[in-house]
Amino acid sequence: MEPGALLPDELDTSRDQPPVRFIPTPSAPYQQQHRLARLLEQPVDPGGEQPGTGAAQLEDELQAEAPPLPHAFGARVLMWKQDPSVGEIGTRRAYLPGPVLAGPRDARIAPGTPGIDPVEPNAFGDFVTQPDTPQFDAVHTFAVVRQTLTMYQRALLAAGLDMPLPWQWNTSMDTRPLMVHPYGLPNVMNAFYSRSQACLKFGDFIPPGAAAAAADAETARVYTCRSFDIVAHETAHAVLDGLKPQWLQADAPPQTGGLHEAFGDLTAIFLALSQLDQCEAVVAQTKAHLHDKTYLADIAEQFGMALGGGTGLRNADNDLTLSQAGTQVHAISQVFTGAMYDVLADMFAYERNPVLDDCAAVLHRVAAYLRGLLLRALIAAPDRAATYVDVLNEMLRIVQDDGKPPIYAAFIHNQFARREVVEHPGEAAMAQPPAAPLAPKVCDKPGARQDRRACCGTMNLPEYHRVNRVLDSESAALARWCAANGRLGECLLPSAAVVPVAGVEPAGAERA
Ligand SMILES: [Zn+2]
Repeated sequence: MEPGALLPDELDTSRDQPPVRFIPTPSAPYQQQHRLARLLEQPVDPGGEQPGTGAAQLEDELQAEAPPLPHAFGARVLMWKQDPSVGEIGTRRAYLPGPVLAGPRDARIAPGTPGIDPVEPNAFGDFVTQPDTPQFDAVHTFAVVRQTLTMYQRALLAAGLDMPLPWQWNTSMDTRPLMVHPYGLPNVMNAFYSRSQACLKFGDFIPPGAAAAAADAETARVYTCRSFDIVAHETAHAVLDGLKPQWLQADAPPQTGGLHEAFGDLTAIFLALSQLDQCEAVVAQTKAHLHDKTYLADIAEQFGMALGGGTGLRNADNDLTLSQAGTQVHAISQVFTGAMYDVLADMFAYERNPVLDDCAAVLHRVAAYLRGLLLRALIAAPDRAATYVDVLNEMLRIVQDDGKPPIYAAFIHNQFARREVVEHPGEAAMAQPPAAPLAPKVCDKPGARQDRRACCGTMNLPEYHRVNRVLDSESAALARWCAANGRLGECLLPSAAVVPVAGVEPAGAERA
């Protein structure tokens, strides 16, 4: 084809002028020519220079201008902002940077089946649906799970650890995603992560009392999947189980169980603080004094209110100590959650400088560091029977390795000493990070069993209580009784029509 044959006459520049592509600044004629050339897929200009050279040059330009491929992916989603029961907070738009397919689903998270019909993206590839519909809940739940996983993946990458945070069942042969069931437990006041089912399930229910009070009880129905905090909490169980599968077992020491529950609650707090607008809201609400009681410290308030409590299931702003908590995993978890929350408040107060920087930006930054610190310390802690002091010592080591000011270690040491995790060494000794790992002050008693009452649904699932062992031992006892009473060998069930007669063995029911 003749170069420039398809271009309109007005762009056929005369020979005594330089071709438009050689004009250094992008002039109007250049822009027009460039656009048309791209539209017509005509890679050379009408100037008459060497066709091959011109084509290669334009191709280079086009490649240089094309956005990187990942920008073609990513989806905007409309989701609940914090809890829908908090009046002033409604829906929010969020951007998920990775590829999201109909479902919504991606490589790591998928909708559970049977469940809500897959939600298709709109023409822009976005998942913007009507609130109070199953499609909205499917998108919201996916988005919170995705944001939680992304938050921790980023935390590790920022620390130089390239780890995709596998689910517990993932191997080189099994890359199944986590299945999410937003309506997985109809009429059940519960939500849980199940390893054996590779899923998260969320209940919905009409709160007791609301059914009698409301003319239409359905309007009072509570969907746990709509709670930002509950979805983040349950996703955290899945993330931690992928790292430390022994920690979720009910026969682990009470503090190990407490780490799992506390990680769930802290994840809800960290996920909220990974959002700039939430940081701003918290700073405004507390006047930058984080020890103030706010919705930040109340986890899962919607679920908590539905259960009859006014302040939510968990309150990170507490002063519980280990000796007060005993073997109750829920109480023990509050000790850890509360200590970490106080460390956050201390670090924020230290870093805050309204003259130089916006308080919300500082809170966003401090929370990002602390969540990475916690996750790295959990990873570094023992695979079995990890205790609070194990995680504390890892955090103290990591802040030193990171080159943080010594006062960071002092904040952590002090808050965990207040909670009786370690001895309080006094103000003078606190000025320098401890040279050797600290010894625990209050330990689980030898052989102490976890009391998981008041914990979330995950902690109460039979699969983590080794119930199979109980069932197996009951089966074994039954088999022994049968053997002792002459019921030996394999028994094939007689067909219903054949009634065994004394002294006559029915066909097909012989005992070996
Ligand atoms: Zn939990």
